[in-house]
Amino acid sequence: GATIGILGGGQLGRMLSVAASRLGFECAIYEPGSAPPAGQVAARVVTAPYGDEDALRAFAATVDVITYEFENVPTAALDILEETCPIRPNRKALGISQDRLTEKEFLNGLGLQTAPFAAISTADDLTAAVKGIGVPSILKTRRFGYDGKGQVRLGSDADIGRAIEEMAGSDAVLEGFVNFSHEVSVIGARGLNGEIACFDPGENLHDDGILRTTTVPARLSGAQKADAVLLTGKILNALDYVGVLGVELFVTPGGLIVNEIAPRVHNSGHWTQNGCVIDQFEQHIRAITGWPLGDGARHANVKMENLIGADMDRVADLSADPGVALHLYGKAEAKPGRKMGHVNRITPKD
Ligand code: ATP
Ligand code: MG
Ligand code: MG
Repeated sequence: GATIGILGGGQLGRMLSVAASRLGFECAIYEPGSAPPAGQVAARVVTAPYGDEDALRAFAATVDVITYEFENVPTAALDILEETCPIRPNRKALGISQDRLTEKEFLNGLGLQTAPFAAISTADDLTAAVKGIGVPSILKTRRFGYDGKGQVRLGSDADIGRAIEEMAGSDAVLEGFVNFSHEVSVIGARGLNGEIACFDPGENLHDDGILRTTTVPARLSGAQKADAVLLTGKILNALDYVGVLGVELFVTPGGLIVNEIAPRVHNSGHWTQNGCVIDQFEQHIRAITGWPLGDGARHANVKMENLIGADMDRVADLSADPGVALHLYGKAEAKPGRKMGHVNRITPKD
């Protein structure tokens, strides 16, 4: 069978590897860090930094297609890999979503709504932007932010100095605070032949910037659900995308506002593992290997809950709980804020 190269060895790479192996593929993981969770299930792990050109070339030579589990792979590494091997999703999708500014410009260019935003490099930029956008607002680093890291909330003009300090010279965007009723996301997939399939939107609850739970069905009208799926298809087509994409949305009386997109399988899509015949991980593997997309119709109501840090103390209880599917990532240390696993709680479909 073919071999799939995965950049990044975290839990998403691990669950992609499991799905791939079920379809008869082998996976090779490329990961700078030691003892990656995906390494426990993949056939092979290459431990090397993204700056190691020889290691990158050798990796690309041993796999048939390359994908990634996180969007911050340096583009220089992709240039080298791409000389030898196709990368799916493509470079464009990754490049745009590596930078919150280019991502928002891209989304607005498609006619989709985002929070009002402004590019910020200096304290003067921020002072001017706060005048235009107002408070409350959120200053976010353009690159490398995740789980709410690299963000400062501004409640008044008095916060400007502290916010600039916390950015520590990183380029940033200021976003107006969106007064949403709730948050939802769509996990969409596009195949090699351009076919598109979306999973049911999930409703997401965040705590301190980290996803806590995803619930399906989400509270959405039929029209809102259609909007969510159609805008996801628009994004997938515009990027000539192949693979699974996560689209995070704010629900407001004025319509759906796109918070951000993630060019990969997404934490808010973990419910599909126990709510659909084909989950997001298999869907991604199918897309990047040129298989037809699978049947992602939802057959249950699901509440996905992340197990973060000390939540691991509840595993023994959860393991005895009927209707609960446990997914653990094999990480050694349950540090605060660290995603250690998740559970999918299944009830009959509405
Ligand atoms: P992820 O782990 O999802 O990549 P992230 O670090 O990229 O997280 P965001 O998705 O930008 O962070 O923000 C995290 C959460 O903070 C959002 O899901 C939302 O709850 C809140 N938030 C972010 N931006 C805004 C905004 N402009 N208005 C209101 N709430 C916001
Ligand atoms: Mg993000
Ligand atoms: Mg987010």
